Amino acid sequence: MHQADIPMSSPDLTEAERQAVAAVLRTPNLSMGGEIQAFEAAFTRRLGCKHAIGVNSGTAGLHLCVRAAGISAGDLVITTPFSFVASANVLLYENAVPVFVDVDPLTGSIDPGLVQRAAADLLQGGKAARAWLPRRGAQGRHPLKAILPVDVFGQPADLAPLEATARQHGLKLIEDACEALGAEYQGQPAGLFGDYGVFAFYPNKQITTGEGGMIVTDDETAAGLMRALRNQGRAPGDTWLQHTHLGYNYRLDEMSAALGRVQMDRLDELLEKRSQVAAWYSERLEELPEVQTPQLAPTTTRMSWFVYVIRFAPDIDRDRIARELHQHGIPARPYFIPIHLQPYLVERFGYQEGDFPVTEDLGRRGLALPFSSVMTEEQVEIVCQTIAEIVRS
Ligand SMILES: *Cc1c(COP(=O)(O)O)cnc(C)c1O
Repeated sequence: MHQADIPMSSPDLTEAERQAVAAVLRTPNLSMGGEIQAFEAAFTRRLGCKHAIGVNSGTAGLHLCVRAAGISAGDLVITTPFSFVASANVLLYENAVPVFVDVDPLTGSIDPGLVQRAAADLLQGGKAARAWLPRRGAQGRHPLKAILPVDVFGQPADLAPLEATARQHGLKLIEDACEALGAEYQGQPAGLFGDYGVFAFYPNKQITTGEGGMIVTDDETAAGLMRALRNQGRAPGDTWLQHTHLGYNYRLDEMSAALGRVQMDRLDELLEKRSQVAAWYSERLEELPEVQTPQLAPTTTRMSWFVYVIRFAPDIDRDRIARELHQHGIPARPYFIPIHLQPYLVERFGYQEGDFPVTEDLGRRGLALPFSSVMTEEQVEIVCQTIAEIVRS
């Protein structure tokens, strides 16, 4: 059988990245030096925000936002079940309760109308509130603290109405922009909506640092706290062995920051290339009636392609197609498996199949295809032809 051997994702690195990392290794300064400052400055410049705080993963960044928002045990946070698990896990780290609401079927982003209704009902309490809460694990009276939307697959969530709901009720808004660096919502960069935004740099993201993340915010007090928390809770003025807060080691090392700094210089080039690969896919796959290509909302004025996820018609066995693609040397992944159906969430909150039907439907029908900025048109052609053959067989 023909083996295509196409990777699921791939970083896009040049000599400039290799030299920048090697240069750090010729200095004695491997953590909290000039490179992280330069990497952070690249973000404040590009996004036009006041503060950027480099951390060692997107998850760490989201966790610091949860801490900065003052979210603690029993607090409620409205978020989406159609995401990578980290966006819900950071709430569980603080024993807060993620209150899931379903998503928009076109984009997979949290439905702002449902968020508005959930917020009003949760703040009212009683019977109205209970309708939104999980079957168990959320007993007693808990305050609603925040909304945590996710910019799914590189497309901003419908952020304007979410921001309005947050403002109306005095809730914090944490934007998980880990999949959407460079995207724009109505001309505004993703990551800047609400109180804090977070980006991530795992090797399959638009830019990579190996492992890493970046928080962006205009909130000076929160930025100071998050800088302290990433560095073992050391506040300004603390010595190396003085710790004002319970903190973490969420520091981003200098080698990673140097890599990220060069990748940031190349961001537009990388996004252009990803956009070209997505266009090659869509051109070919739009001819297949069994396949729905990714759809953009009118509010998405700039897409930042993270993954390329197609949806199969309901009568098609997505898992069979994924298996056969693998046999041809083409990796493909269901994207996402709904968060509320992950075993530890089922156990803790009693979620059941059917609780979030749109999310579950997208979870059953979606398949992420190999995707990166270094993918060639020939590789895209092979993937699409193989899909066409499998679907027709
Ligand atoms: C990648 C990602 C994160 C963070 O991932 P890390 O691996 O911790 O950097 C968070 N949320 C979403 C939606 C992501 O895709």
